Amino acid sequence: MSDEYFDKLFDKAFVYIHDDETVQSCTFRGLQWLGEAKNLEEKGLYVKSYVFYLKAIKLAYEIPCRFEISVQAGAYSDFKHFQKQTLALIQKIFKLKNKLAVRHFLPCMSIQSAMKLTKDKSSKALFINVYSEESSKDYFLSEATINIPVSLFRSTSITEIDDYLKKAPFLPEVAVCYSLENHLDDIDIAYHIYSVLTSLKWKPQFLTSMSSKKIDENKSILEYLPIGLTNLGNTCYMNCVLQCLFACGELISPMCHKSQALGAINTGNPLGSGGKMTLAFLSLVNEVFQRKGKRVVSPKRFLDAVQSLNRDFSIDDQCDAQEFLNYLLDKIHEDLNSNASRASMSPLSDAQQSAREKLPLSYLNYVEWNLHIRHNLSIVEQIFSGQLCSRIQCTVCQRTSTTFAPFTSLAIPIPDVPGFVSLHECLRRFMAYEVLEGHNAWFCPACQRRRPAKKIMNISHLSDYLIIQIQRFRNTMIGWKKVDTPLQLNFRIPSNMLIPPCFQSGMNYDQCSYDLFAFVSHYGQLENGHYTSCVLSENQWYRIDDSIVQRVDGFAALQYDFSSSYILFYKKKEGVSELEKRS
Ligand SMILES: [Zn+2]
Repeated sequence: MSDEYFDKLFDKAFVYIHDDETVQSCTFRGLQWLGEAKNLEEKGLYVKSYVFYLKAIKLAYEIPCRFEISVQAGAYSDFKHFQKQTLALIQKIFKLKNKLAVRHFLPCMSIQSAMKLTKDKSSKALFINVYSEESSKDYFLSEATINIPVSLFRSTSITEIDDYLKKAPFLPEVAVCYSLENHLDDIDIAYHIYSVLTSLKWKPQFLTSMSSKKIDENKSILEYLPIGLTNLGNTCYMNCVLQCLFACGELISPMCHKSQALGAINTGNPLGSGGKMTLAFLSLVNEVFQRKGKRVVSPKRFLDAVQSLNRDFSIDDQCDAQEFLNYLLDKIHEDLNSNASRASMSPLSDAQQSAREKLPLSYLNYVEWNLHIRHNLSIVEQIFSGQLCSRIQCTVCQRTSTTFAPFTSLAIPIPDVPGFVSLHECLRRFMAYEVLEGHNAWFCPACQRRRPAKKIMNISHLSDYLIIQIQRFRNTMIGWKKVDTPLQLNFRIPSNMLIPPCFQSGMNYDQCSYDLFAFVSHYGQLENGHYTSCVLSENQWYRIDDSIVQRVDGFAALQYDFSSSYILFYKKKEGVSELEKRS
């Protein structure tokens, strides 16, 4: 067996102790890794889990090489606890490595070559099918097939598998294992059957082509050709948002294919709508995409559902498109959130809090993101969610306080200046330093008094889609005021501009760009204004004004719509050309 694969994993488990770290902060980091490894192992993500276990072991070894640890030191007992935990892992990591070896080096065979074996009478091939009793179906690829129920692998003893194999009509030269229900994707089952067959010296072969085909089918993404939506009386705020969401292929496709990718509706989640919002949206999406010769679709039933859930979206008043978008995405997310009922983690102690501040930002970001996912898992979260990092630093003692906040759409202020302002400029201002002083001075926990402080806000994580809300409405002394500054069109935002270098190292960051594919424009004032949207479909831009769909031809026309833009939809474009990298 080649060790190259495991050498790579060993290198991947990279451990680095920063100059400003202490025994305490390293120990804290190590314990977090152990927790993460366990968490990943429970989820069946064995490769990632293995890497985290390795990292913890490496760190436990590195700490005493780097620091002199005296038995009297306060951090000693924490470190000893961590060291004991990693020592107890040695057995476990060997087992995990064996499992990974099965997955990685599994001798695999295509279905065509398996079918050849069934016809070739000279070779003695035995077929082993793993099936579930619940479905009470067994599928034969060959007459020489033994069916093994998957429940056997869930019992603690696996000797019963031997009993099943004794039914074999002959001693095989090769044993072909398969499962049309994909049970062999479960690494534990694959490992069990592999061990039994190797101990019997029956050459195990695994059939894998069946599961891979299924995945490809789910990948087809629907392209949206815009269709008008009836205005039901001041409902352009809703129509314009729906049009942009229809253009989000990764959100819409599983809804049209009724795929399992959506997951079950979590009707018990008190933060959701009991499934009502999601089902109303699903039904509208299907009506829009099936078209059935219609030129306009009426979102009446969808609107009824929205209004029955939230009276704020009443028909007599013009409502805010951003509020509606946030409400809709939040309800769909909570309806589909499969992690909603997980118990929350206990808050950090003061000592942990201060140790936490010494960790590298990219690592903190990773930990916080995982904490977020622990409680939030849905298609909305997977497609749109990003994370913001905000750090305040005392200008006297340099003590920092770092907080992370997930977002589904990013709210960016627009400056009230004469002439055009570019989106790039708005983003730069959003992420620039702010000094907190005077009334705004920060209460520094180290100095124990109010101190002038520097505050910086950064995007620390982005998903495949990025929704940007331009904050055009401001609450002033005399009521709401709209900032009318025209926005200059930026089709593309390079990821370097969104994510600062300190966050590019830690996560799986690949340089890429975000490209515009839909946006909402707002004209006039809040109460009496009007919304339209523009959507890109197969390289053609369309302007949609409720029931009217028009082509937008030429850059100038699109710039006109964009200058009043209010909500922008960008999508990640993989792979940036060398030219763009240099610029
Ligand atoms: Zn201070």
